Amino acid sequence: MGNKNNVLWEKHRLYLPDMRSRAIHRCRHCKFFVAIRGKTETRQGCVVKIKAYGNLEKPVPPVVTVMDIIKRVGLEGLDECLKHGDPDAQSCGKFAPGRKE
Ligand code: SF4
Repeated sequence: MGNKNNVLWEKHRLYLPDMRSRAIHRCRHCKFFVAIRGKTETRQGCVVKIKAYGNLEKPVPPVVTVMDIIKRVGLEGLDECLKHGDPDAQSCGKFAPGRKE
């Protein structure tokens, strides 16, 4: 590959289109990043692993209730959704544009 001391090489990095979009976007810009509303608090999370939303069978609402998530994917699924609740996290390969700040 390239010589690491070569300035021209360093300044001309190429990104594949998909990689570029991953590198510049954050979870908060993603369609699957939603508010998850419980009885006493609302947290943020990612619903891409919930089949109906991940396949875009259903439109992804901006707010999803905890009960809706538990009904679809159980408590483990809810945990998984909440694990990806950092709005500033770098987007993953399933990023879909759609959220405005
Ligand atoms: S970028 Fe990936 S982890 Fe982040 S909200 Fe979108 S699908 Fe979920």
